[in-house]
Amino acid sequence: MKILSVASEAVPLVKTGGLADVVGALPNALAPLGVEMRVLLPAYPAVKQAMKKPKSLWQAAEFFGGPAEVLGFKIGDTEFLALDAPHLYDRAGSLYNDENGQDFGDNAERFAALSLAASCVIEEGLADGWAPDVVHVHDWQAALVPTYMKSRGRRVIPSIITIHNIAFQGVLPADKIEALQLPWDRFHPDGYEYYGQVSTLKAGLADADYITTVSPTYASELKTPEFGMGLDGMIRARQDRLVGILNGVDLDEWSPENAEHPYDARKMAGKAKNRAALLERFGLAETDGALAILVSRLTYQKGIDLLIEALPEYFSAGGALVLLGSGDPHYESQLRQLQQRYPAHFGLEIGYNEALAKAMFAGGDAVLVPSRFEPCGLTQLYGLRFGTLPLVSNTGGLADTVIHANQAAMDKKVATGLVMTRTDVGACKDSLHRLLSLYRDTKRWKTLQKNAMSQNVGWDQSAQNYFELYERAFSR
Ligand code: ADP
Repeated sequence: MKILSVASEAVPLVKTGGLADVVGALPNALAPLGVEMRVLLPAYPAVKQAMKKPKSLWQAAEFFGGPAEVLGFKIGDTEFLALDAPHLYDRAGSLYNDENGQDFGDNAERFAALSLAASCVIEEGLADGWAPDVVHVHDWQAALVPTYMKSRGRRVIPSIITIHNIAFQGVLPADKIEALQLPWDRFHPDGYEYYGQVSTLKAGLADADYITTVSPTYASELKTPEFGMGLDGMIRARQDRLVGILNGVDLDEWSPENAEHPYDARKMAGKAKNRAALLERFGLAETDGALAILVSRLTYQKGIDLLIEALPEYFSAGGALVLLGSGDPHYESQLRQLQQRYPAHFGLEIGYNEALAKAMFAGGDAVLVPSRFEPCGLTQLYGLRFGTLPLVSNTGGLADTVIHANQAAMDKKVATGLVMTRTDVGACKDSLHRLLSLYRDTKRWKTLQKNAMSQNVGWDQSAQNYFELYERAFSR
């Protein structure tokens, strides 16, 4: 089966979050099941730099204000397709915003172009003869594909949209409808209209054959006003087509066997060396308390403000933390202040650094994920794999992947971490306190680490679930 996957980011080319990890991992995870997946994304400068021997597979002389071409190339075993349209993508800054952090003014056109190009590839096929059987689109940036495909009507194939985070909805003014070549007959509340505006994500939810999201609990949460963020009505209307499929981890990339001091569940000595190296790197004092880590975008979603309030008590009780992240300038400055108050307990790096992230999972004792909502979350999964026990809130994929260390779960040897009962400052303080006491109970801690490391967090099961969904969509 041939699948066209469409997204705005994918590892190893470009990444701002978990979306890229998932889009980049799926082709290899699905290949053993006989799925031939190609990943279409914009040809940002970083993508063009990484291309080797690109082949021109589709062209348009005029595409949203300039010429465009789809280039095919391989990275490892993965077949990528990059939409090369320099007037849209060849610019400084990040994927979505300029060097000052401002969203590009033409993001609507930039990502509509990605979706329309996908639709053209479906209709016309590629110059090498490849044509997809099913299209799988990700998040608001690629969400217009089903709407374009169905309204143009030249070739309609089964479509699946995955919601990685419903907070990002691609909301645009309605006066863009003509410029984006959207069909007027879908501009109503059952289509892409959203309170008088356009939501590209809503278009995808209305027009795709199936909707998936990245955990079963998030799939249920999305039907509620609290988590659905204005799209819960549309989700409820389509709930018979909604499936929750957990994300997996690329174990070639994320495994303690590849750490600077390698280790596994049977031989944990390497972890102690990685821990010592991490303490030293950040100039932290040796402690009998846990060394927690946190790797995250610094936003309200991630509960960073709750931690900032809870941490002084944890540091005073002997806990340590290394935090890597970037995001909201307000949180960044509060964290810098906290670091100055507790230099022996708190290591901070503001920025994005994948190598450091890996060293932190290898050296940390616990990973903190106090999110207010979390569609799946990847860092708790890395934590399980590395025996870096997750302390998480009780939401979305966190609730689906971490088993709370209550007495019964510990007796049965199935507990893998700590799940907070509520997501507030008090619960963070209580859980950090509990973390310290569990950590100091060495025998218990070791059992928890063993349980965590024996969890299957790879892609096998989820790849099978996606495969079954593709087959179901294809056979309809
Ligand atoms: P989200 O997609 O909401 O940001 P996820 O937990 O699903 O959250 O995925 C985040 C991904 O980005 C993980 O792979 C995490 O390790 C990585 N990440 C986040 N912030 C940083 C950072 N500052 N440096 C390195 N990796 C980061």
